[in-house]
Amino acid sequence: MFAINQLPDPTVVSYAKKYRHIAPEVILKEDVLRLGMSFSRDALEFARGCRSQAYFLFSYNISPHDQLGPALSSQAPEDIKLVGGPMALERTSVRVVLSTRSPYLVDIIGGKPMLCENAVPLTEVVLPQKPPYYGATLADGTRYEQVIPLLYDHFAFITTFRVCHYWGDKEECKFCDINHHVRELRRQTGDHVAADAVKDIAKVAEVIEAMTREQSPDFRVITIIMTSGSIVRKVRGGADNAADFNIPYVEAIRSRIGGRLPIVMITESQPIERVKALRAAGISSHNANLEVWDKRLFEIIAPGKAKYVGYEAWLHNLYAAVDVMGEGNVSPNMVSGVEMVQPWGFPTVAEALRSAREGFETLMSHGVVPHLDTWCIEPGSRLDGHPPVPLDFLILADVAWYESWRKYNLPPFIGYGPMGVRGVAVYGNSASVDVSE
Ligand code: SF4
Repeated sequence: MFAINQLPDPTVVSYAKKYRHIAPEVILKEDVLRLGMSFSRDALEFARGCRSQAYFLFSYNISPHDQLGPALSSQAPEDIKLVGGPMALERTSVRVVLSTRSPYLVDIIGGKPMLCENAVPLTEVVLPQKPPYYGATLADGTRYEQVIPLLYDHFAFITTFRVCHYWGDKEECKFCDINHHVRELRRQTGDHVAADAVKDIAKVAEVIEAMTREQSPDFRVITIIMTSGSIVRKVRGGADNAADFNIPYVEAIRSRIGGRLPIVMITESQPIERVKALRAAGISSHNANLEVWDKRLFEIIAPGKAKYVGYEAWLHNLYAAVDVMGEGNVSPNMVSGVEMVQPWGFPTVAEALRSAREGFETLMSHGVVPHLDTWCIEPGSRLDGHPPVPLDFLILADVAWYESWRKYNLPPFIGYGPMGVRGVAVYGNSASVDVSE
């Protein structure tokens, strides 16, 4: 390891000097989540055959597929781990956000993949390998990974309904590209998840059983995360709400694997009777994503949620859900950084942070443990082209989340792996899980 002050001035170094109490893993992770990264030709060649981007829900990239080109779009890894290197980073799991404009590039240096910022090597990159069951097929030839991709080596991620009934400018969340992306995905080739709007229940049950039989510590499934776009009308003549739609999947999964693993269910806000029904079917956690704390911003950036449920009812349902699910088992997502969306959001880091902290405090005082996902400015969303959120906000919001979490003595939010200790987190969408004392 060489000392920090011998490096020129990569961002992680200057910010590590500015925030001496914050681990460099948190700084670097947030910066690559907000700015994305790219891969050199050599690095892509090195990565050939790794567990590549599955495009299981949103694009989760900054550059569109056409700009990335087919190689980067289809061969780049889904997620990576950063470890060691000049700053001796503890192992840090990070979702790969692709951007051709990013200063961050994975390149091969000394025979190893390294993450560089403006050509300055920062840390080694561990590429994800495919688990043994990838490539196995169902009777109709569908590959297992096209039904359920593995994320972060340990998360089975099931998108049961991969479009959203919140439709158009007046309803879709402004940061979200779900409906655009499913159209894009149908143009792509690669090891991607099948772009079916509705996932087949029998296929899901068969694949999840095979995945959970894998006991190698490198690929052991530790959680099942289920999500879908919002449902406000009948899907194929059947269920007209997210609970009724998803319960048959939950029952089919539980009948195959029993109760060993948590099932995280992400839907739009549900009345308490439906949360109870989901609980009875076997979910471990219900997360109705609030996205942003400030009421005015919620109504602007999540107009469908405001229209069909409303801010006050959303909060009421979250608080009521804790009595059914238990503390740690109600964990709505907050899109970290969208507080500063322009022209509507807070103009300064201090104001945005005050609002975010107020949200963490209020939610946690009710036993709700929100989780953060760093805002990825997706090309198919209505906020395409928005400038990146200041890094200071993302780092300080992570710390504010952690401080509130410790203050209220809450458990980790279930189903996202370990957190709160440097170098142990699996979740790669936010560095809030990497903050520690
Ligand atoms: S509810 Fe909002 S964030 Fe969720 S899928 Fe629909 S548009 Fe996207």
